[in-house]
Amino acid sequence: MNEQNSTLKLFGRQGNTEGFELREFLQRHIVNFEWIEIDDHDTCLAHLGIPDLDNVRFPVMQFKDGQQLFNPSVRDVADRLGYIARPRLKEYDVSIYGAGPAGLSAAVYAASEGLSTVVIERAAVGGQAGTSSLIENYMGFPEGLSGAELADSAREQALKFGAEIILMSEGVKGEFIDGRIHAQLADGNKMVARSNICATGVEYRRLDLPREDEFLGKGVFYGAGASEAPLCKGKVVYVVGGANSAGQAAMHFSDYAEKVIMLVRGGSFAGTMSKYLYERVSNHPRIEVRFNTEVTALDGDECLRKITIKDLKTDKEETVDTRRLFVAIGGKPNTEWAKDTDIKRDAAGYLMTGPDLIDNGKLPECWKFKRQPYYLETSVPGSFAAGDVRHNSVKRAATAAGEGAMAITFVHRYLREDL
Ligand SMILES: Cc1cc2nc3c(=O)[nH]c(=O)nc-3n(C[C@H](O)[C@H](O)[C@H](O)COP(=O)(O)OP(=O)(O)OC[C@H]3O[C@@H](n4cnc5c(N)ncnc54)[C@H](O)[C@@H]3O)c2cc1C
Repeated sequence: MNEQNSTLKLFGRQGNTEGFELREFLQRHIVNFEWIEIDDHDTCLAHLGIPDLDNVRFPVMQFKDGQQLFNPSVRDVADRLGYIARPRLKEYDVSIYGAGPAGLSAAVYAASEGLSTVVIERAAVGGQAGTSSLIENYMGFPEGLSGAELADSAREQALKFGAEIILMSEGVKGEFIDGRIHAQLADGNKMVARSNICATGVEYRRLDLPREDEFLGKGVFYGAGASEAPLCKGKVVYVVGGANSAGQAAMHFSDYAEKVIMLVRGGSFAGTMSKYLYERVSNHPRIEVRFNTEVTALDGDECLRKITIKDLKTDKEETVDTRRLFVAIGGKPNTEWAKDTDIKRDAAGYLMTGPDLIDNGKLPECWKFKRQPYYLETSVPGSFAAGDVRHNSVKRAATAAGEGAMAITFVHRYLREDL
């Protein structure tokens, strides 16, 4: 049995949400682990061999061989588990940025069709879908499947065909020289490829409230927070948002929490949540939905303790106790890296591709090719966009995966062109 499949132990202080990033990483990579709360000096001595818990830098990650890392970063743990790889080649046929459904699907098709393929992912595989507790509308899985399962199988499949997946690595700047993309990575390294696919998706939108950063992972969580659900046993948790991701989160937490309160800015779920989901949410005995509400303040000490909720119809505010606030209010595209390039973005930052690049019958001036851009091609030939990051994309796991696969067809055509 390799380390990934054995039980690792993660020790942390009771009631404190420290270690959230580690729990999230392990859960998203389907690594079996046990979360053990250390609530007094005796348990500290029994589990860690240290008599005074105040002398311990929590969280503590203990591996199968007994090695312990005190307050490690996600990178430290990923490295120890063998997830951090170095690129094997100097140049690839295709480099893919982002390992969400679009990037992973592109990697499976590219590698299986003989292209040398590298995927650069700044966090964990699966992207947004990887945070979902249950995806029920993905074709072929009538009972649904968790985002982590979907991501992990796709990762395995891409690796099987020979793709390289480099985690904890972020593309920060792209340059297009001699028909190659030279991407600058956050760690100072460069990645060179003959074509590339941007599948960097979207990033969670924040509430933009004072102290939000301070409580991040310490009571305030973005997305579905799938790894946190078992820690919500018997508690009242709040979920902000009225779309599918918020609905899924509420359903998932309702298996553990005493009560889930959804705070929805709009007056209904119409047009924001799938019918099957809003019927379940609305009829669930432990889920309460409060329409026309928003969170206006966060309060606490070392972790979140209280939130203030405003009724948008009456302007009345109410402050309630809670240690768990899950925010699922959509996102904005991850395209900062493209801002100094010829790649065209729309006003919100999404990447323009194919026919959307034509404005008043004209292609952008930077487009020097005689042919029209392919459907998923950006304004830089050989550079494609797939999934949520693309202007006018449908925000669904299956469509992102479909676009990732389709982008590879265009990569083949581009690489065959006589440049
Ligand atoms: C909680 C939740 C539940 C959902 N449930 C469903 C569902 O049930 N059904 C459904 O169809 N859809 C669902 N969705 C939507 C679906 O997950 C997305 O549409 C899909 O994940 C988009 O895939 P993507 O690959 O385009 O982008 P993403 O999933 O956003 O992945 C982008 C990846 O790129 C990485 N990245 C970003 N910038 C960089 C960079 N500069 N360098 C390297 N890597 C970078 C990110 O870390 C991320 O891993 C859900 C979304 C959420 C948040």
